[in-house]
Amino acid sequence: MNGSFAFELPLMHITFGITFLIAARWGERSALFFGIAFLCNAGGFGLPVMPMGLSDSAVAWVTDILFAISFLCFGQAAAEHFGVGRRWLWWRLAICATSIALCMIAVIGFDDLHAELLASDAGCVLLLGMPLLAVRWKGLRRFDRWLLGASWMVTFESVVRGASSLFTAPGQVEAFQTSRYAYLMQALGSVCGVIFAMAGLAAVALSVLARYRTMAMTDPLSGLLNRRGFEEAIIDRPDWRDRPTSIVTCDIDSFKAVNDRFGHMAGDAVIGALGAIIRGRLPEGGIAARFGGEEFLLFLPGQSPAQSLRIAEALRATLEAEGGRAAGIDARITASFGVSGAVVSDYSVHDAIGRADAALYEAKHGGRNRVALKLFEAVDQAPAQRAATRTPSAGCQASSTRMSA
Ligand code: GH3
Ligand code: MG
Ligand code: MG
Repeated sequence: MNGSFAFELPLMHITFGITFLIAARWGERSALFFGIAFLCNAGGFGLPVMPMGLSDSAVAWVTDILFAISFLCFGQAAAEHFGVGRRWLWWRLAICATSIALCMIAVIGFDDLHAELLASDAGCVLLLGMPLLAVRWKGLRRFDRWLLGASWMVTFESVVRGASSLFTAPGQVEAFQTSRYAYLMQALGSVCGVIFAMAGLAAVALSVLARYRTMAMTDPLSGLLNRRGFEEAIIDRPDWRDRPTSIVTCDIDSFKAVNDRFGHMAGDAVIGALGAIIRGRLPEGGIAARFGGEEFLLFLPGQSPAQSLRIAEALRATLEAEGGRAAGIDARITASFGVSGAVVSDYSVHDAIGRADAALYEAKHGGRNRVALKLFEAVDQAPAQRAATRTPSAGCQASSTRMSA
């Protein structure tokens, strides 16, 4: 085996290990396990070529321990990344311990290299392959598919290497370093190591980006989208022109008084309670956002204005009945709602949002705690322009009607 090649491999794996440990500071647990795994791998590849004065059998079993821990960590990194967490973790720990024990018996007890390699490689295959069995290809993002493919490649490489050991490795542990098996292991270790590390780094980086992107789009108080998230979400929904689509706007009534009476924290809890109510009643395909302080917006594709009136009325009634208790304060919390429908002549969804806002304004001026509807601006700016409020039983009306006190 080429000496410098033998030294390059541990250095390469140290570099990968440190890179993953740095990436772990972004909060990705999989990166932590990748980092430990690559550092153990570096030790496993480096120990046999370092002049440390250890006996061949000591080098062999320490190396076996390092590779077993490395593949346990690779498996856990994959499990963390693909969201299968602790699946079969106790089994994997038991396999790791068994593999190490069998390797030590083969090395110390019998000086049997074939048995040692079989125990080590079988352990590696199971430790990485088992968590992968729980991962479904379908629905994975592109970089995650690359990582899954690279993980299976490393597992398969361990199978092939282990199976070939009968032909490529001699019988005695002392003869390992000069064997074809050792050369094959280092050659495959460098090629597969690079591919595996690159796929892992890309998947970890993309996952961090996706997490920060979600955070940038989400309002932490209500759990709904924020304004930026809403704008991004409706870009992906150009179908609003092809089917009935409605907008509901909502503004908590006299919220300043809630803050003044119960404190800002209680006000925040009210926003959280309304966010939960909206999430619980949002129809499929609907998009809900907190647009500003105590203002919310619902984009409801596939819902006619009449259906959206019912949704808004249900939200209004639920908030009034449960909002205060859900927020932990002894007060009746109410909100006013504006509903509008998108029409084909709208230049953008914001035209419909403008009409829903106008309806909300009507609801506020009509006495608050009510739902108002504004359908569309008439072409001639004449009587078709209307705002109406709705009682739970009377349906949509053309005049403002007080719903509840
Ligand atoms: P109206 O019924 O007319 O809507 O009256 P209002 O008091 O709700 O409206 P106003 O615009 O006077 O006050 C809105 C208040 O919302 C003022 C602001 O302190 C409060 N607010 C805005 N954002 C937050 C927030 O994130 N948390 C809390 N607790 N309060 C907020
Ligand atoms: Mg308000
Ligand atoms: Mg407001």
